[in-house]
Amino acid sequence: MIDTHVNLHHHLYESDLEDVLKRAEEGGIHGMLSICDRIENYGKILSIVENRDNFWMSVGAHPHEAKDHLELNSDKLVALAQNKKVIGIGETGLDFHYNLSHKEDQIKVFKEHIKASQINQLPLIVHTRLADIETAQILEQAMKENEFPLLMHCYTSGTELLKKSLDLGAYVSISGIATFRNATDVRDNIQYIPPNRLLVETDCPYLAPIPKRGQRNEPEFINHLVNYLSEFLGKPHDEFKEELDKNFFSLFKRAVNVVQ
Ligand SMILES: [Zn+2]
Repeated sequence: MIDTHVNLHHHLYESDLEDVLKRAEEGGIHGMLSICDRIENYGKILSIVENRDNFWMSVGAHPHEAKDHLELNSDKLVALAQNKKVIGIGETGLDFHYNLSHKEDQIKVFKEHIKASQINQLPLIVHTRLADIETAQILEQAMKENEFPLLMHCYTSGTELLKKSLDLGAYVSISGIATFRNATDVRDNIQYIPPNRLLVETDCPYLAPIPKRGQRNEPEFINHLVNYLSEFLGKPHDEFKEELDKNFFSLFKRAVNVVQ
């Protein structure tokens, strides 16, 4: 199993990251994509993934952090993405729920990420919350100008944006939220995602799935999500896991699987 969205540089792992990664390995997690939220964290994340097989990273600035990245441009992102450990651009996007950065700033920074992805063709990892209309408009317009690979991460938004994203060729990633009792909207959306474009993620240390809800999340807990989804979709467990891994490598083409 690959955990397609982890935040390993988070301060909650400061004291026991090695233990967390050991449990992941013992739990059958043989790869993970560690996400960049602020450019200043690039070095820290790289130092974690650098010497580990099947550990990769992204480069980008989270929409919450847009206010501190107004100078960030696509050239800088493309330059930082030259390291072969970098396999994606983001996470980027729009979050009008928390509005921790102004809308205009989020949009500006989002567009620079898109430009980077259009240039180097690394998948754009999109976070979107309460911004369905704006997200769809920006992605549709950009895709018309110059295509790029797309991942809608931790998808909890509306069905319309989901369908529009899928029309743009997007892959869609589901997090532990899908296991929450009240997350019927998230579960209802899964039916629209073609099986060959579905990914899973923990988004750890956030969003621990049932039965770990409320705890600090970690990559090993992805097993709870995969078990839940394989049952939900009525798919044999091993087959489902293989399919998910295959989807990951078909989207993140720069990631070379060196662990089996
Ligand atoms: Zn996110």
